[in-house]
Amino acid sequence: MNLILMGLPGAGKGTQAEKISEKYNIPHISTGDMFRQAIKDGTELGKKAKAYMDQGDLVPDEVTVGIVKERLAKDDCEKGFLLDGFPRTIQQAESLQTILQELGESIDYVLHVDVPEEKLVERLTGRRICPTCGKAYHVIYNPPKEAGKCDKDGSALIQREDDQLETVKNRLEVNKKQAQPLLDFYHDKGYLVTINGEQDIDLVFKDIQAKLEQ
Ligand code: ADP
Ligand code: ADP
Repeated sequence: MNLILMGLPGAGKGTQAEKISEKYNIPHISTGDMFRQAIKDGTELGKKAKAYMDQGDLVPDEVTVGIVKERLAKDDCEKGFLLDGFPRTIQQAESLQTILQELGESIDYVLHVDVPEEKLVERLTGRRICPTCGKAYHVIYNPPKEAGKCDKDGSALIQREDDQLETVKNRLEVNKKQAQPLLDFYHDKGYLVTINGEQDIDLVFKDIQAKLEQ
């Protein structure tokens, strides 16, 4: 099963990706997570990505496409994969077509998690993440069992730097501009499935499962 998750920042891609990846046993490939890890590790990639991420701008396509190409070539992607946060531009989508063709693979579904924009600011500014495992919580909608601590490993939760209000606004603007042409691209290819992302987390997942198992 080769899947792509699309949706604006805060739509719930990471939250659903964790569930899909566990249920269908396919690797969750998040370009945002890969960049954050690279920054933490102080690698060349991290240095390249950091300035863009801090502003809420997109990392250049050639950098992003390069890491995805490497990742998709790994053995664990043979049984399928779940891309989260990639592609975000038409150029990335076109590069992905070429990469998959070379691997003899194709996309099964593009799941668009659709949430009205006015809900997203609140989701993003209320998001807290675990610095150890990356799991996302929300102070109101998805709180951890014990306040401020990760359910999985007990680490103290933090706020992502780019989840501050000013950066959030820029991220939404930047991503909105790119979103419609990409949705059209996948709609025209017949891959696009729209999921109502405004429901509770478990109900969103139920809808995704229903589509995948149709
Ligand atoms: P969110 O989950 O809030 O949508 P991500 O964790 O996916 O955010 O991305 C965080 C940042 O990483 C983005 O603002 C951007 O700077 C960079 N990034 C992630 N994916 C891509 C991509 N496909 N193309 C360019 N930049 C990306
Ligand atoms: P994305 O990866 O698309 O940026 P996340 O999965 O990180 O989004 O979710 C953004 C924030 O919204 C997180 O704080 C998460 O706990 C919360 N969230 C995710 N799905 C829902 C939902 N269906 N209803 C309410 N809050 C949600």
